[in-house]
Amino acid sequence: MTSLGRVESTSFSYPIMRIVLGKGKKGKVLISGGIHGDEPTGVEAICSFIEQKEYAEFMGKWEMTLIPCINPFGYDHDKRNNFDDIDLNRQFKSFVPPREVALVQSVFHSPFDLTLELHDDVDSTGYYFYHWGTSNFEPSLASKIREEVKKIMPINVHSDIDGTHANRGLIERQIDPEKRDWWPMALYARSKGTRYCLTLEAAPHFPMEICVKAHLSAIKTALKNFIPKR
Ligand SMILES: [Zn+2]
Repeated sequence: MTSLGRVESTSFSYPIMRIVLGKGKKGKVLISGGIHGDEPTGVEAICSFIEQKEYAEFMGKWEMTLIPCINPFGYDHDKRNNFDDIDLNRQFKSFVPPREVALVQSVFHSPFDLTLELHDDVDSTGYYFYHWGTSNFEPSLASKIREEVKKIMPINVHSDIDGTHANRGLIERQIDPEKRDWWPMALYARSKGTRYCLTLEAAPHFPMEICVKAHLSAIKTALKNFIPKR
């Protein structure tokens, strides 16, 4: 476990931690949480992934880079944004990105095959996820994640989630990064050559334990079923 660097001011100093498991393995995955500080289920899920050794079965196939908490100030203060009240997940195309974003960008020096970003949506009736991409859609992976997660938490089956068309819990975001003037982390990952980016949203009106299990199920199903091409 290493610190990517620290987020600091005169009154606080937080490290942003990075853990790499299975170094040198063929497939490269980035799993991150806590970019929105008031969405703790992803942070808990990644800690559980490590503590319960849920990663063990994937050590032969994946190099797993884990960043459990991208926004430690927000996490500590139960706030979505960072100390400067910036939504970090809007800043990945900034010329002068916030410190947290710059530290996360530094791990993209070699491309990932897969990125999994863990979030909560307090307004959601159930689990759902975004797939970011243009030509690499693998519907079987989405349906496998859906089938596994729904054993733990219901899927949000509304056809409109957050103003966007959804198909049984899957929102497809087919956006060319170059055509957008701000980027969430997933579009940065796409611009760096990541084939498949999933943003996973738990529904935190369910107990924390259920949310953590749902995220872990989504992570493990993705790692089991996704085939790195390189
Ligand atoms: Zn979020």
